Amino acid sequence: MATKAVLQQLITNPDRLSTLADEAKELAFQVGVLMHTCEGPSLPEVVTHAPFTLFPSSVPKAAFFQARALQTHFNTLVDKISQDPEFLEEALEGTIQADDFTAKLFGIYKQVQLEGQTQSTVVCLSRSDYMLDQSEDGTSSLKQIEINIFAAAGFCVSDCLPVVHRYVLKSVGLLEESERLHDSNSTPQMSAALAKAWELYGQQMAVIMFVVEDLQISKLGRHQLEKELWNRNIPFICRRFEEVSKGASLDGDKKLFIDGLEVAVVYYRYGYMPDHYTEQTWDARLLMERSLAVKCPDIGTHLAGTKKVQQVLARPGVLEKFFPEQPQVVEQIRATFAGLYTLDMGQEGDQAVAMALANPDKFVLKPQREGGGNNYFGQDIVQVLQEVQSDKRRAAYILMDRIRPRTEQNIQLRKGLPLTLTSVCYELGVYGAYVRHGRHMILNEVAGNLLKTKSNEHKDAGIVSGVSVFDTPLLI
Ligand code: ADP
Ligand code: MG
Repeated sequence: MATKAVLQQLITNPDRLSTLADEAKELAFQVGVLMHTCEGPSLPEVVTHAPFTLFPSSVPKAAFFQARALQTHFNTLVDKISQDPEFLEEALEGTIQADDFTAKLFGIYKQVQLEGQTQSTVVCLSRSDYMLDQSEDGTSSLKQIEINIFAAAGFCVSDCLPVVHRYVLKSVGLLEESERLHDSNSTPQMSAALAKAWELYGQQMAVIMFVVEDLQISKLGRHQLEKELWNRNIPFICRRFEEVSKGASLDGDKKLFIDGLEVAVVYYRYGYMPDHYTEQTWDARLLMERSLAVKCPDIGTHLAGTKKVQQVLARPGVLEKFFPEQPQVVEQIRATFAGLYTLDMGQEGDQAVAMALANPDKFVLKPQREGGGNNYFGQDIVQVLQEVQSDKRRAAYILMDRIRPRTEQNIQLRKGLPLTLTSVCYELGVYGAYVRHGRHMILNEVAGNLLKTKSNEHKDAGIVSGVSVFDTPLLI
């Protein structure tokens, strides 16, 4: 590939490489590929570029559009699951007994169900992630890694990055390649979905509340979204869980108020890990879920995005239940499922344990966690399973076939990282947005994409966890 030849040349010319990297970083600053860093006491003043690859990665067109074509079906699927308490209860039964975090979320879900849901509108901004599994004969197939339903971020940065990659390609003479970069344009659609939810709530003065991280490293990564809301004249506020815990309340109609403001939409950007909560902020989560505010997403939809549900969906006959009249949709979705295995107590789970212990390098062991850095690979799988295999603790995990993506050479630009040629692989994410109002899906869309790339040295990934970097697909 032309990019490969250019990279080989650049690496032998450190001055040229360093200048190009600096130019790319400066452009990144200008177009909004930004994030805060953890350094320094006054966080808001310490800014760097979000990490990204110097060159875009080649993505086969067929796989790219296959992933995009699936997104509205995944939106529909997630929404159907979120409205199926029997399915959720059965799917998560073993997990709830083994995993306190899932149990807590499920407890909130049950309580809301028991009281009767106050709000029948829901908005969901999601991202379905895939890798291209490379088989021995050189062909590759698109396999879903997971679907992110709760706090799926990265779209604003991803929308800004192609400008930088186009510049880099052009400045090394790769004009034809620069025309094959695929632009992402998620932010207008994501903001339109939030705006629709706000409009349906029907109270001009009420705000969209972003529930944000304690340490807002990726705060700048959502500025485009905020700008879109400003342009639409929609008031929004940002609050940490603790602030919600201290300042929020419900009135007699279960309207949610904070600091004198009525909340129309709660948009969670945080709260996907146990350590995001304290005893008090669990109460705040419950308060928001019980409220009349539209949630992005609501608790049932959050649970539909668990890894356990992903595994149950891969069982024979389950997709058919959700798409009874659409065998083609079932086939289309199922084609992207890797092997997924239950570790619940019982014969099937025993077989999965034995299979993983015999061949740990072929699998990934996943707990019910998000955000990267939580999965087990290789000998770590053996260690964990040996400890939990004979009791119900093992149901906290699922087992998945390990995907082996193709590797390429690239240079990662991250603050503090030297400019070295590294063997990398990517994960393609497709964003989706939907709004359901009562029984009616009034918006169901595929938005843009996110390509995140990591060094092969790392088995797990994640941009926030400091492993992956942003990338742009160059369609081939
Ligand atoms: P998280 O919710 O923490 O993002 P993921 O399921 O996306 O959990 O896994 C995190 C990372 O682990 C992925 O981005 C990917 O790099 C790696 N990974 C996950 N599943 C697989 C798999 N089946 N095969 C190979 N790598 C995987
Ligand atoms: Mg992931």
